[in-house]
Amino acid sequence: MTKFSDLKLDPKVLKAIDDAGYETPTPIQAGAIPPALEGRDVLGIAQTGTGKTASFTLPMITLLGKGRARARMPRSLVLAPTRELAAQVAENFDTYTKHMKLTKALLIGGVSFKEQDALIDRGVDVLIATPGRLLDHFERGKLLLTGVQIMVVDEADRMLDMGFIPDIERIFSLTPFTRQTLFFSATMAPEIERITNTFLSSPAKIEVARQSTTSETITQGVVLYKPSRKDRQASEKRNLLRALIDREGEACTNAIVFCNRKSDVDIVAKSLVKYGYNAAPIHGDLDQSKRMEVLQGFRDGNLRILCASDVAARGLDIPNVSHVFNFDVPNHPEDYVHRIGRTGRAGRKGTALTICVPSDEKQLAAVEALVKQEVPRVETPYAPPAGRRAAEENAPETAEKPARRSRAERKPRTPRAEQAEMAPREDQPRRDEAPAREERPAREDAPQREERPARAERSDRGPRRGGRRDEPVLGMGDHMPSFMAQSFDERRQTAQG
Ligand code: AMP
Repeated sequence: MTKFSDLKLDPKVLKAIDDAGYETPTPIQAGAIPPALEGRDVLGIAQTGTGKTASFTLPMITLLGKGRARARMPRSLVLAPTRELAAQVAENFDTYTKHMKLTKALLIGGVSFKEQDALIDRGVDVLIATPGRLLDHFERGKLLLTGVQIMVVDEADRMLDMGFIPDIERIFSLTPFTRQTLFFSATMAPEIERITNTFLSSPAKIEVARQSTTSETITQGVVLYKPSRKDRQASEKRNLLRALIDREGEACTNAIVFCNRKSDVDIVAKSLVKYGYNAAPIHGDLDQSKRMEVLQGFRDGNLRILCASDVAARGLDIPNVSHVFNFDVPNHPEDYVHRIGRTGRAGRKGTALTICVPSDEKQLAAVEALVKQEVPRVETPYAPPAGRRAAEENAPETAEKPARRSRAERKPRTPRAEQAEMAPREDQPRRDEAPAREERPAREDAPQREERPARAERSDRGPRRGGRRDEPVLGMGDHMPSFMAQSFDERRQTAQG
């Protein structure tokens, strides 16, 4: 087995690796570091969690240890698709260069131009950037890319998803033809293949096993859930999610909840918070400092549940996640592999549970085709109140009265009754103690037909004439003083009298 000491890395880098506690190189490191140190281009087909960041960082800093930075001309460039990923690469650099004197700048949205400009003016060895921000700096004339000797493209397939390929091509064309390129992608889509054929020169190709093949440590499950009504799907899925989290009990020390839509990330996080769970969202609309704060909280163990979109969570290095919950089946089957790969890392055990509604079944089939296994079906720990489902299935929308049901059926299953089937959670309030209204969108929030208060029923009959003085006038707002209606009655009564 290859040892780090076999890899011809700078002794100061080896010392930092030792400090980090790494014992042996991962397969992508063992495969990519030697050709990178020889100055060859590298094409690494590897996903996050395989140690790929160190596989380009370690040889880069070993090579950079030999020269000096020049003003406004970074010597190396790392491109990452998201701010978090770029920030994470920067952290890796700090870890591995702790015994060296290399400088870096981080060009990402949300970090002030001024500070980074000052660093670049002085000269940096390593520039880590998202493509858009890098081009902004370049266009403002603050930066020259003609001194770039090593260029890294990380998570190229995600760059493709995010529409960054034209930017990447432009950046390639701004760097010297003689540069060394280290290029990483989890998959080789045709567009990625084209880029590598154009910009890499006879690269050493290293492919490591896809994460799906290392998933034995991950217990997977999918709940096939049929909502009671389509317009209640979202809120029922949130109930189901909480029930799933509860059922996992203490085994769920921390979790990432993935949603397909950014808007759902927010709603799900808010809903969890409302129900007493320690949760926060991470998505592109949050400002940079907030995103960093949320992530740090999650890493430190102060935040239990991180709600994320695929883009925001891509490549985030968060060790020790006990659970992944997929609020939706991802649209791209590869994302399933990425998502569940956040748990069960480095040989640890993990659990990945997915919610699948009927409209997601096609995507589930695509996932199963990709991972070449059936995701075991698990029982749902949640069902919408029986009364609601029966009423809705039996009664037409316009029915005045719900269909007659037995007493037991009439009494909707209380959330507490549902929770009795689950592991108790001492630290957080029960679902039925949580506020019922605020979180729900207007339609979902409407009371069930059979629960509708008297006022709504009366309004069907129109305003009451000759009603009692203290009764509110219906259809005109509860606050209308009753004497206004009373005076008509009295006048009529007087006329009749
Ligand atoms: P990455 O795929 O670069 O996101 O790395 C995933 C995790 O593996 C990070 O927490 C690294 O610190 C860690 N790591 C990288 N290389 C090694 C190694 N050789 N041994 C143990 N852990 C490692």
